[in-house]
Amino acid sequence: MSEDSLSDAALASPIIRGGTRLVGVIGWPIEHSVSPPMHNAAFAALGLDWCYVPFAVRPLHLAEAVEGIKALGMRGVNVTVPHKQRLLRLVDELSPTARAIGAVNTVVIEEGTLIGHNTDARGFLRALGEQGFSTEGCSALLLGAGGAGRAVAHALVSVGARLVILNRTPARAHSLAAEYADIDERASLRAGLLDRETLGHEAPRAQLVVNATPQGTWPNVDTSPWPEDVPFPSQALLFDLVYNPRETRLMRQARAAGASAVGGLRMLVHQGAEAFEMWTGVRPPIEVMYAACATVLGGD
Ligand code: NAP
Repeated sequence: MSEDSLSDAALASPIIRGGTRLVGVIGWPIEHSVSPPMHNAAFAALGLDWCYVPFAVRPLHLAEAVEGIKALGMRGVNVTVPHKQRLLRLVDELSPTARAIGAVNTVVIEEGTLIGHNTDARGFLRALGEQGFSTEGCSALLLGAGGAGRAVAHALVSVGARLVILNRTPARAHSLAAEYADIDERASLRAGLLDRETLGHEAPRAQLVVNATPQGTWPNVDTSPWPEDVPFPSQALLFDLVYNPRETRLMRQARAAGASAVGGLRMLVHQGAEAFEMWTGVRPPIEVMYAACATVLGGD
């Protein structure tokens, strides 16, 4: 597909007809979501009569909105900040992964039954796989233990990585490590405080560093979870979940130390592609989705 047709697909406006199938995303706020152009570009590229709509849903109205997506005959929705945890109690069934992670980012409606899924872990592993990184037995350092950190930890434990979870609030990292150690008794999990001293101690043996904190996200682009005076491990791959901006300060720190670095956009696309396939039964064109996001976010 040429660059022109990629950007045509990225900017395509769907024609909505009586039979158009409807999916979307619920969050608060929602204006900055890149999911609508990402999914609509894939529908357009495949010629599917589907449409993906953003819904700004205040926390106060979440339960009504969830009833509404069922009442309106939608096929499903993505769920984003701040609703992912509350959806656990608002759906009829949970996938084992959503239950283990403790958050729902995708809902599929099967004959009136709301099923909650979480596609972040699979999206992360697919994006990591694209880097040719071998996870089995690797030493991974995870920064952050919030919603995204939980999904990454689940993914890494499931593929046999040895994991150290560091968090600003260490109790959260400790309880996450204890929870996942219960899921898999072979899992190697440690936890601690995200500070200069612990990073300095843990960094030299890390083969993978994952940033699951919002440090470096627009508009706070000058921030980084990694202090300048702690050497970044040159042998490691950095996976920064932040996707706006495409190149973060932490990615520049890693590259300056000789390490490889990848941003969060590939994960965003892959978690979206998993949801797309659950709704439609069709594997979407990843590069069309990626180009649509890149068009919206700008940069390379
Ligand atoms: P979250 O649930 O609010 O968790 C935020 C985490 O970052 C917590 O562990 C928090 O520590 C830590 N944190 C927050 N501010 C910090 C600071 N100033 N210094 C150090 N640590 C800090 O958020 P989330 O949903 O996990 O999202 C985290 C990031 O991942 C966001 O930038 C989000 O956009 C990105 N993300 C990307 C994708 C993707 O597909 N690429 C998917 C999901 C999320 P405490 O526990 O101490 O508060």
